Amino acid sequence: MPSSTFTALSPESQGSPFWNRLTETMPRAKLDALHLQRVQALTHYAYEHSAFYRRKFDDAGIKPSDIRSLDDFKRKVPITDKSEFISLQQQRPPYGDTIALPLDFVAHHCETSGTTGVPLAIPYSMYDSVRYGESWVYGFWGLGIRPTDTFYFAFGWGNFAGFWSAYWGARRLGARVISGGGLDTKGHIEAILRMKPTVLISTPTFALRIAAVAAEMGIDLSKSSIKFTYHAGEPGPTALPGMREQIEKAWGAKAGELLGIAEVDAMAPGCPLGDGVHVNEMNVFSWSMDPESMQEVPDGEIGENIVTGYGNTAQPLLNYRTHDLVRRRSSCACGRTWSKLEGAVLGRTDFMVTVRGTNVYQTAVENILTEVEGVSMHYELVLTHEEGNDCMRVRFEPEPTVDPSRWKSVAADAQARIHKALHVRLDVVAVEPRSLPRFELKTKRIIDQRPKELRRALDR
Ligand SMILES: [Zn+2]
Repeated sequence: MPSSTFTALSPESQGSPFWNRLTETMPRAKLDALHLQRVQALTHYAYEHSAFYRRKFDDAGIKPSDIRSLDDFKRKVPITDKSEFISLQQQRPPYGDTIALPLDFVAHHCETSGTTGVPLAIPYSMYDSVRYGESWVYGFWGLGIRPTDTFYFAFGWGNFAGFWSAYWGARRLGARVISGGGLDTKGHIEAILRMKPTVLISTPTFALRIAAVAAEMGIDLSKSSIKFTYHAGEPGPTALPGMREQIEKAWGAKAGELLGIAEVDAMAPGCPLGDGVHVNEMNVFSWSMDPESMQEVPDGEIGENIVTGYGNTAQPLLNYRTHDLVRRRSSCACGRTWSKLEGAVLGRTDFMVTVRGTNVYQTAVENILTEVEGVSMHYELVLTHEEGNDCMRVRFEPEPTVDPSRWKSVAADAQARIHKALHVRLDVVAVEPRSLPRFELKTKRIIDQRPKELRRALDR
């Protein structure tokens, strides 16, 4: 195939399931030796260039030269949290004294979506943005996307880091990019039919919404040019297999996703096997911590993902709390040696709920909902605290095709399945179709109505 883009790629890499076989299949001992060199260099860099880190290290009574092993790094380098960065940024906008580079070196500014309160300002150097983009390419390549593909971004270009970095990734891959910009859903559909892109980039729920609106217009997008859909921004096909099925059916495409953290990296591209994501260990060092005792938890157990980014030269992040609960595995049948997070993110520490002694994880409930016939993708989980106990109530919109006389039985079916799988009884109620809010970016699934002092929220 005569393609100028392909001339840079060897025949081996064109057919390979790996974007970079060397890095993706590196033996653990080698990876850890590399991590040690990198965290040591980063510790020196942060201490010397960021007033924030110098203060943290001095307060903890440690020097960068004290870090002689990865265990030293995990135990001695102070844990950092989003709330610290936000409060310093508010004192002295835009970045406080967390920044480690002169402002001239900041090539791009983004912000978190602010779903948990005040948004975090995120500066990227050019180097940071290139590394960040490459994380996406690992995921694109693993799914089968190639430089001959054309990306369509169903995304209004605000300050959300997620899809800006996907754009950096598409550029790195060498593919063509089409922006849907500020079009409405109908406009996106028309643009896709006219321009014939092969890859859709959007949040997973927005992909379903586009398909639903198309169906109302009498258009079947499973017959469109789209061959792949790729997602980020909220729990998607990895955590929710039922959602993967819906997206793949609606678009006649293969669905992939990655777990990104705006201020860190597109840090964990989806495993091609579909049941987890792999931490990009070229860009991120990570380990799991018990959020209560702050001690490391072993592979296989659920803990909070603590990350250190190698591509955050502008605003370094060392032992940074993600508040994401994950289960880590050290091997995978796909051949990648990078740590695997099974089912991506299982829940959030700030929305951790214990109902009658049972820990209830958000994605576990969502997963069951996507499998119940008659429950649409529009639902929310309402957290309350009654008589000393956390409670979770599920409010869902039935599919429009379900007769109102059957709503109660759909709710009862969902409640029974949740009870069977999670051994906990939750209130499940149907609400009027189209009564819950719609989102283009992150869908707000959790409504936390617990008293403020009981929430483990980030903006605490
Ligand atoms: Zn894998």
